[in-house]
Amino acid sequence: MQPAMTGKALASSSGIVIGRVQKLVAGRKPIPERRLEAEEIKVEQQRLADAAARAIAALDEELNHLSELKNKEPMQILEAHRMMLQDPELIEKTQGMIAHQRMNAEWALRCQLDAIEAIFNRAEDEYLKSKKSDIEQVGNRMMQYLMGSISQVDISADEMGTIAIGEDFSPSEIVSMWRLGLAGIICEQGGINAHSIIIARGIGMPALIGARDILEQVEDGDVLILDAERDCWSIHLSDEEIRKYKCFIAAMDVIYHDLETFSTRKSQSRNGYTGMKLMGNLELSEEAQLGMDVGIDGVGLFRTEFMFMQDDTEPSEERQYQTYAKVVKDMTGKEVTFRLLDIGGDKPAVFQRLMGIRYSGENPAMGIRGVRMLQQCPDLLDTQLRALARASQYGEIKILVPMVTTCQEMMDVRERLDACCEALNIYHKIALGCMIEVPAAVMIADELAKVSDFFSIGSNDLIQYSLAADRSDDAACRIYNPKHPAILALIKQTMRAARAANIPVTVCGELAANPAWTESFMNMGMSGLSMSLNSVLMVRRNLSRLDYQPDIC
Ligand code: PEP
Ligand code: MG
Repeated sequence: MQPAMTGKALASSSGIVIGRVQKLVAGRKPIPERRLEAEEIKVEQQRLADAAARAIAALDEELNHLSELKNKEPMQILEAHRMMLQDPELIEKTQGMIAHQRMNAEWALRCQLDAIEAIFNRAEDEYLKSKKSDIEQVGNRMMQYLMGSISQVDISADEMGTIAIGEDFSPSEIVSMWRLGLAGIICEQGGINAHSIIIARGIGMPALIGARDILEQVEDGDVLILDAERDCWSIHLSDEEIRKYKCFIAAMDVIYHDLETFSTRKSQSRNGYTGMKLMGNLELSEEAQLGMDVGIDGVGLFRTEFMFMQDDTEPSEERQYQTYAKVVKDMTGKEVTFRLLDIGGDKPAVFQRLMGIRYSGENPAMGIRGVRMLQQCPDLLDTQLRALARASQYGEIKILVPMVTTCQEMMDVRERLDACCEALNIYHKIALGCMIEVPAAVMIADELAKVSDFFSIGSNDLIQYSLAADRSDDAACRIYNPKHPAILALIKQTMRAARAANIPVTVCGELAANPAWTESFMNMGMSGLSMSLNSVLMVRRNLSRLDYQPDIC
């Protein structure tokens, strides 16, 4: 038995899990890379040829099964895969890399697949672009035979669960692994308010970030304890220590169970004040049901980016409408605030590059993101506004504009929203709100309040931009400090402007879930706090222990 090993990290989504390690690099198992000795070249070339032959044999077998089907489309896809496996562009070039660059088979194959995918990415033709996923599937199949396991995350079916460990994960990687049943994630990098971590928190997946060098210290299959209650991870624990952890997890379940009673309670202070709603921040339509389970008073922020970040192309109006309508219907009459697309910053989208939208190179957080990007792409904005306006027939929706720094931006979006509603014969009012997440917006909040129906404070970015501290950079996390007096001052100034114009204010950044702020937010007259779903019950319990004492700032 190896000695126990424990490492420090930063808890970014609470919970404790015991699971088996699976190391992933960019969402894939790491590919072994080594330069070959001369005598190994033939062996590696043979391994590659064998892997291709096995992949073809497996395809032939699948084709055989499918031959009975009336619908010939699946067969055509597999036949195309079969042809790719015999294509000289794939096999001969990879064999060439093994021979001339002395790369082992997996490494050469990965490089050649990347080169082919890059060609598809550059293609103008939509059909050719769509073929990229076929080449990925063919590549994975061959890699599976070369490496003896699948190259994508391999979620274990045993009760232990799987913990994915990598440098960093993208939001879509986290969501796809969650859908496969992943138990937790640990990243070497990452800031506490990075977008992917906010997603992990939203879906309730325990996560640690800043676990330095963990990839070098753990091996696939190790039993690991991810402890996001005490900011650490451990491996090689004795049976006795694992038993103690299991008892601790059971105790946590009891505490959580107690918290669950708050899912059916009102969001109310001890002295009966109910003016501050506790709402959910969602990214995926399926989370609406999870939100109802914890009794959210509405959705204060639906981040629409996720749909755009997954795809290579802009989601159609119909696809967007279906997603938005599902959320509105699932919320059964509770208000839902959809934020317009806020791509950019730490939320890149493949399609943004493909559409030639200016990708703000070295410093994307300061570049063309949020409403700035929407103004450059009016068709994109109109499509989203139309989809939202159509979804508004199922219940009250509000629309939020991200990254606003001028009144003109609000007025432009309002004009386009009105035009879309008119064209669709929609005559009920849809409230349009302004995100306050840049210090400049606070400084002109009096003016912005005249062109906005409500404000929503995006504290994640407001802190980042006012303290000049990157929210995704763990090295800057000491500077990224919500307790800095500037943050309270900015929030109070926003409140004063909103009060003068008689419009409501909510907070939808992570500060909304910070128990140290609940009392001041309530007393200063915040009309709602919107947060990751796994914080709602804790904040509601906290609220129930506080007394409302108005503090007009
Ligand atoms: C924020 O900035 O606080 C916010 C809610 O937006 P996001 O985290 O999506 O940038
Ligand atoms: Mg923001």
